[in-house]
Amino acid sequence: MHGARLAPTPPPPATLGEPEPGEAVAPEWVLYVDLDAYYVSVERRERPELEGRPVIVGPPPTDEPNRGVVLSASYEARAFGVRSAMPVRQAARLCPEAVWIPPSFPKYERLAHEVRELLRPHARLLVPYSIDESLLLVSAPHAEAARELAVSVQRELREKLGLVASIGVATSRTVAKIASDRAKPGGVLVVPPADVASFLAPLPVRAIPGVGPRTEEILVGHGVRTIGELAARRPADMMRELGGFARELVDLARGTPHESIEERGEPRSRSADRTLAEDATSADEVVPVVRHLAGELARALETEGLRYGAVVVAFRWSDFDRTQRGRSLAAAREGSEALVEEAERLARGLWAEERARRRRAVRTVSVRVERLSERSQRQVSLDEFRPSRSARTAARGP
Ligand SMILES: [Mg+2]
Repeated sequence: MHGARLAPTPPPPATLGEPEPGEAVAPEWVLYVDLDAYYVSVERRERPELEGRPVIVGPPPTDEPNRGVVLSASYEARAFGVRSAMPVRQAARLCPEAVWIPPSFPKYERLAHEVRELLRPHARLLVPYSIDESLLLVSAPHAEAARELAVSVQRELREKLGLVASIGVATSRTVAKIASDRAKPGGVLVVPPADVASFLAPLPVRAIPGVGPRTEEILVGHGVRTIGELAARRPADMMRELGGFARELVDLARGTPHESIEERGEPRSRSADRTLAEDATSADEVVPVVRHLAGELARALETEGLRYGAVVVAFRWSDFDRTQRGRSLAAAREGSEALVEEAERLARGLWAEERARRRRAVRTVSVRVERLSERSQRQVSLDEFRPSRSARTAARGP
């Protein structure tokens, strides 16, 4: 067969209004909005003399005892190798001249709330991922229109709130997130569906969310350094070391990320995760990260006026196996302290269980909250709806 293979052009709709069956509707785009060095930017709004200096928000390393982690580092501090979630003592060694600022979460929450109020009218749906990252679902007829939207969102954030955002635009969350990382600092990067494979191909595998140093090492062992090389592999070749993660990675590399409708749509759960710079071999290394993530989640829920009814903590281990522990609460809860304590309890339980059997190290930590409800709703105990054990047993009878 010769010539271009074109699908037959559908006839124009007879009437305006509701789309005819088969007629294309404006495609949906994901704008992944990530505020640059958020806590640092908030502090600099009040202290402009810190502009251009290495600034770290976190518990100052002089406080004893200190097992805290860096919450946010300015780009000047990052130039010294400082990263968020890094132990403060390590950060202080890397960048001794840094200006340390203890965090003031109420201030960050208030501004995050203003950010969401500013973003909301731009989107059909707004899904906050953390205090400084949100996903916007928007309709736009083509990539250029989606870019214009992103640029105007960015301008508004700068002019009205003095905040710099990096925005990735794509038709999937994962690609939009990767694009937002490549757009930092302060850029807009649009990846139309037809360009996904060529956009991803030259990037290092580390650009994929969830791929840390250990996964990278395994992939390099297979001769895979870039996402393009990953796309050319068969998942089966890497299953032994990476398990099911191998298929997720290859599918993403080929431009078809695993994303459920729920992940793009109405949030039923929220999670925060972090791949550690080095695999953790003690609970003392893991627990501060768990507490940090739980605190971030609690603040995101606070900003949106949500309660949670279940908490789950999951570890991905050095061999890529993943285990989790969760707890359903009798009644929906709110507030940071309860969530942080619960997450720590679950994390310590997971850790103890692992120590009793094997001694793997932790590479990725994740905290998730489920059964989200609006704070304005009446407090309903889950137990009211759950049949008692005896009732369930009886119902299963012959
Ligand atoms: Mg950010």
